[in-house]
Formats: sequence, structure tokens, C-alpha cells
Amino acid sequence: MRTAVVVGAGIGGLAAAGALARAGWKVTLLEREDRLRPGRAAMVLWPNGVRALRALGLAGGLDSISTAVPPAGIRRPDGTWLVQPGVSEVESPPVVVHREGLHDAFIAGLGEQVDVRGGIEVKSARVSRDRPAVGDGRVTFEADLVVAADGADSAIRRRLVAGSTFASAGYAAWRAVIPWFRAPELPDGVPPHGETLGGGQRFEYHSLGERGLYWVATVPGALRPEPPAGQLALLRRWFAGWHPPVGQLLAATEADDLVQEPVGEVTPMPDSFGVPCGPGGYALVGDAAHAMPHHLAQGASLALEDVATLQTALVGGALGPALLEYGRLRRARIARVLQQSKKAAAVLQPRGRLTRVNPRNLDRAAAAATEWAGPTG
Ligand SMILES: Cc1cc2nc3c(=O)[nH]c(=O)nc-3n(C[C@H](O)[C@H](O)[C@H](O)COP(=O)(O)OP(=O)(O)OC[C@H]3O[C@@H](n4cnc5c(N)ncnc54)[C@H](O)[C@@H]3O)c2cc1C
Repeated sequence: MRTAVVVGAGIGGLAAAGALARAGWKVTLLEREDRLRPGRAAMVLWPNGVRALRALGLAGGLDSISTAVPPAGIRRPDGTWLVQPGVSEVESPPVVVHREGLHDAFIAGLGEQVDVRGGIEVKSARVSRDRPAVGDGRVTFEADLVVAADGADSAIRRRLVAGSTFASAGYAAWRAVIPWFRAPELPDGVPPHGETLGGGQRFEYHSLGERGLYWVATVPGALRPEPPAGQLALLRRWFAGWHPPVGQLLAATEADDLVQEPVGEVTPMPDSFGVPCGPGGYALVGDAAHAMPHHLAQGASLALEDVATLQTALVGGALGPALLEYGRLRRARIARVLQQSKKAAAVLQPRGRLTRVNPRNLDRAAAAATEWAGPTG
């Protein structure tokens, strides 16, 4: 029986561990947190992410936990329109989904066979003629395949790709879900989804239906050292005077709802996301391979594409060539999305004054990022 160690139990790692176990691998899943917990926020899933979920057999309950996001337009902080709603021509709009719902689907997808070890922070990765192995300084885990799904600051990627680091894009971001029992009623005429740009800042919100309200705020600058209550006070100040419902959403948010995250990208991007090692090898998936700013909201969808592609590449045959094929397919695809992300960045987070937004440029970037030929293309 082939063996795999998956490092990191985020979306990429959970999807990979389940896919490998279902394909008959003996899987050990290592996570530095003590237990497997869903991310506290929500996220947008584009049709390519939904297709990847389907390829992984995990899309079954998606309709019941997701809400469609119609083209909602883009506003200035005073409420006037930069892009009128409905002007966008994105053919297949995305859905928004609470992380808890996705997490439950992934945990169910692990089945009974995955050996889950919490509290293990991988610090080293062996690259030699032997099989790959990772360790936390106390225990070594060896396997035919190691899947590095340990996020943007991946210790395994740093070992495999000399000089690779996660570099800030000069922004910090906050996400929060206001649970339904505390969520404010949206004022009359305020749509359930919206996006506003001004002064280099960006605020996006989505109704999650019965689950509450989700928002994302992006602000120029570094991560804030203050405790969450201090960060919330800053956000209320930075977004003061923005049109409804921005103020209402920030007022209804509690410090515990907040998740602060860096915005940046892996640089240099690895030449390949599949690295043969001895008779086995490493696969980099998700942010560990290619974290990028969230302008196109594609990070999770890309992680799921990675895993669907890896799942297909690993069917039969020797591991080394399968990993090289995986790496080749994913490197080319990610380079294309990164290019679109940079185009979107110039529109959505301009350094100078924002006077107009051409929705066609955003539509083109979103359409190109969403185009994914499937696990073999
Ligand atoms: C503000 C913001 C908004 C976003 N919005 C969206 C969106 O709407 N849609 C979308 O698709 N994407 C979005 N993204 C991106 C998305 O969140 C990420 O791309 C995605 O979560 C990456 O998943 P992952 O599993 O690769 O990594 P992670 O979610 O980072 O998971 C990594 C896991 O590995 C564990 N770990 C880390 N290091 C170690 C170690 N050394 N040993 C053991 N375990 C370790 C961590 O604890 C964690 O559980 C957004 C990102 C930001 C910052």
C-alpha cells in the first residue's frame, strides 16, 4: 500500500488527505494546531473551484451551504457607482460559503482511514536519495509521498525551493462573519452583496442567508500589532463615513469575529509544484505552492484544483513522473492566474486616486482565472 504524509489541515490539506485515502493510500495528516478547526470566516468559490470540488466528490451538499453572488457593482465610499450592478458580464458568477460548512464536508471526506495528528509543527523536510520525510524535531514521518499543504509560509517549500519566501504586497486584510443572531438588518435599498473602493482601501460584504453576514476589509500597510479590539477600533475609524451598510457591519462585529491576515505572494514561485525525491517525492498544494493576493478570490479554488489534478496524476504509474506531470500542469495554470491577479490588483487596489473602473478589465481577469480545463488540462 502506498503511503502519504499530508502536512497542514487547511482546505488544501484536508482535500488532499481525503482524496488519497479514498484512492487507497495510507495517509497521515499532520497539523500544528491541536485539533482540526474550520477557518472562522467565509469565502467566495468560483465555478472552477466548484468543478474541482465535484472532481473530488465533495460538492454533494454545496447547494445547501452556499449562496450565489450576483454581479453587485462597485461603489465609491460616498455610495456613488464606479460600476453599476448588472454591468458585469461574468458568465458564471461565484458562490459564497461559510468555512464551517466546507470544513464539515472535508472532514466527512476523510473517512475513518486517515491518521490525524494534531500539535505537530513540521520544521524539516528530507531531500536525498531516500524516500521523503518530514519532522518536527522529535518525530520523523517518512512516506512515498509528502503533500505540503502548510500554507503561505510553508516550511517544506522553504526547504525545497531555495530563497522562496512569502512577501507582503503592502496590505493587511481582515475577514469576519457576523453570526445571524447579531447580524444587522440591511437598510432598505441596500443589496445583500457589495464592494466599495476608495483611498487604496477595499470593503466587500456578502449575505450568507441564515448563517449571517460576511465581510472582508483590505487596507494599505502592515499587519497591526494591537489586540483584536484595537484592530476593530482602527477599522471603524478607517472606514468611518463609508456608505451603508459598511458602518453598520463594523459596529455589529465583535473582536472575536475578526481574523487578520497578511496579503502577499510566494516569491520566487517554485519552478515546479512536484518534486521527485528518491523513489517518491513531494507535492506542493494551495498557498504553500502559490499564495497570492486575494483580488480574484481564487486561493481556495486553486488549492482544490491542485488536489483534483494531483489525484488524477497519481492514478497508476511511477510516482516521480506523476509528480513532474502534476507540477507541469499546475505551474502553467498558476502563472496564468497570477498574471490576471496582477491586472485586477491595478484596478482594485490602485496606489493613486481611483477615478474610474473599467468593468470589462475585471470581467476578463475573472473569466480567465475561472477557466480551468479540469484535472488533466
Ligand atoms: C483576506 C483574504 C480573503 C480571501 N478570500 C478568498 C476567497 O473569497 N476565495 C478564495 O478562494 N480564497 C480566498 N482567500 C485565499 C484562501 O483563504 C487561501 O488561498 C486558502 O485558504 C489556502 O488554503 P491552504 O489549505 O493552502 O492553506 P491554509 O488555509 O493556510 O492552511 C494551512 C494549514 O497548515 C497548517 N500549518 C502551517 N504550517 C504548518 C507546519 N509547519 N506544520 C504543520 N501544519 C502547519 C496551518 O495551521 C493550517 O491549518 C483569501 C485570502 C485572504 C487573506
